[in-house]
Amino acid sequence: MKLLEYEGKEIFERYGIPMLPRCGVIRIGDSTERLHMEGPGPWVVKAQVLAGGRGKAGGVKLAKTPAEARELAGQMLGMKLITHQTQGKALTVEEVLVEEACGIAREIYISVVLDRKAAAPAIIASAEGGMSIEELAHTHPEKIIKVPVDPEVGLLDFQTRQLAFDLKIPQKNFREFTEFSRQLVKVFLENDASLVEVNPLVISSEGRLLAIDSKIVTDDNALFRHKDQAARPDHEATEIEKEAKAIGINYIGLDGDIGCMVNGAGLAMATLDTVKMAGGDAANFLDVGGGASVDQITRAFQIILKDPKVKAVLVNIFGGIMKCDNIASGVVEASKKVEIDVPLIVRLEGTNVKEGREILAKSGIKIAQASSLWEAAQKAVAAAKAN
Ligand code: GDP
Ligand code: MN
Repeated sequence: MKLLEYEGKEIFERYGIPMLPRCGVIRIGDSTERLHMEGPGPWVVKAQVLAGGRGKAGGVKLAKTPAEARELAGQMLGMKLITHQTQGKALTVEEVLVEEACGIAREIYISVVLDRKAAAPAIIASAEGGMSIEELAHTHPEKIIKVPVDPEVGLLDFQTRQLAFDLKIPQKNFREFTEFSRQLVKVFLENDASLVEVNPLVISSEGRLLAIDSKIVTDDNALFRHKDQAARPDHEATEIEKEAKAIGINYIGLDGDIGCMVNGAGLAMATLDTVKMAGGDAANFLDVGGGASVDQITRAFQIILKDPKVKAVLVNIFGGIMKCDNIASGVVEASKKVEIDVPLIVRLEGTNVKEGREILAKSGIKIAQASSLWEAAQKAVAAAKAN
């Protein structure tokens, strides 16, 4: 799950990571009077969306007076933001964070990532922060520093010192930085993150070390260990995805027009690949689970058909734990409860497949059966194109 900047900063706070004083977060509909701006200023007004590059897109603005900060915050709420990270999509700004701003002497890039090859975390850092790290990695790979992290013990003292030297951290901020980097790794490990990024970490004009931005991505599979995170709204999930999650169906919306109902995540992936090979695009990834009941199949149809892009539904089920005749009955029962107004293509394989196919054939429902996944995918692609 991706966290918004202020949600990440709330976690940073617990680890004593130095930041600018926050004046508050307001949502659409809130009064800007809720912002507490007592300091001398200036202030920085920041759109809370799940994408970087806000600065260049008008999502980060400086204000000299509280009145100006309130006005900017009000303007930003509801604004559509397109940054170089949103793939052309516009994100609506639903929340705005206001902080006391600082003058910036230096911007540094630092993150903790999961190094999949090493099966361990690693710090990625660069003395040249602020700009796109991807671009820097491309043009000046030698300027990227990588430090492996032992997941059992975290960052060791010699590593924090070496990193501080490599990043040319001023003598005055040395201790602060070594403590900061150790804590950043702790944030990563203790919150089951897959990414913790601070871009930029700055040395302010007054010589303070401050984390100006935060980006945290946590591993959904570890949510059960983090009750506070599980309670957070998932800003990225669509309405259909939230609904599916609530009833225990693994569903991820995609851009195509072929709705897929599959049991097992591996088979679902193979189905998406096969649809693609047949010249089509799946509208979703959906895993009904191993022991899909009539109820679960009915709900899966309802979920799939909520997506208006769906022009054909491909059911690809392997009857292992569940027998094919039971699954076929489930499909027939479900089609009585849900109006399926697009072509339905079913491929069944596994135990009692003969009986299963018979049930489908005798049901009187318009179903195109296929005896292989390849045939099913081709039929689904043709049906979607014709529909
Ligand atoms: P991003 O563009 O979405 O990554 O948003 P950031 O939080 O990183 O802000 C973008 C840029 O705005 C930073 O790199 C800074 O140059 C600038 N910025 C953010 N906060 C402040 C601040 O308090 N003072 C000043 N002077 N600049 C800031
Ligand atoms: Mn940033």
